[in-house]
Amino acid sequence: MKRLAEEELGLSFRFDAMLNPRCDCSQSPLAVRLSPEEVVALDLMDPERINALREFAGRFSQTRTIGHQSDGLYVCGGGAYSFAVDPYGSLRMCVLSPEEGFDLRRGSFQGGWDQFLSRERDRKIDRKSKCVRCALRLLCGMCPANGALECGDPQQPVDFLCRVAHLRAHALGWDVAPHGECEYCKVAHLR
Ligand code: SF4
Repeated sequence: MKRLAEEELGLSFRFDAMLNPRCDCSQSPLAVRLSPEEVVALDLMDPERINALREFAGRFSQTRTIGHQSDGLYVCGGGAYSFAVDPYGSLRMCVLSPEEGFDLRRGSFQGGWDQFLSRERDRKIDRKSKCVRCALRLLCGMCPANGALECGDPQQPVDFLCRVAHLRAHALGWDVAPHGECEYCKVAHLR
């Protein structure tokens, strides 16, 4: 596909190896998901990708040092700067979120934005998972929607994302400060 795009069609090519469960929480897509080691091996074969990862990480160097310290469940722009409407007319935090939405057939967008999304946005974490102080948080893709989709719990770290993030950090030589009980912080487990 890369050769087709770049050499035959003269287009730029980009891929994303991070497959999610389906929006209805079916885990069936995961049957064809690459392993974390395969994902990182693909990264390492592509110098442009590695540069992009380094550049992205550089923008969050402050966060990498201190980790995430807010007690808000959401640290993204969902419900603050963006929203999604699914094919059934439900207003949601984002396209991935499988949690209950606001039915726009029964209420106005303004009502959904002001009441439903604002309430969702204000949700707090109620337990200290290993993600709370993890410096890789903004890089790994773990978020309430991914936790709910794959683990049925917005606060539950997604093992696949966690392993990929730590493997990438290790491959790129980033130090990851201790952030609680994290099996992937032990380098021996990544070999
Ligand atoms: S899933 Fe793992 S890498 Fe991602 S934020 Fe949580 S602890 Fe960090």
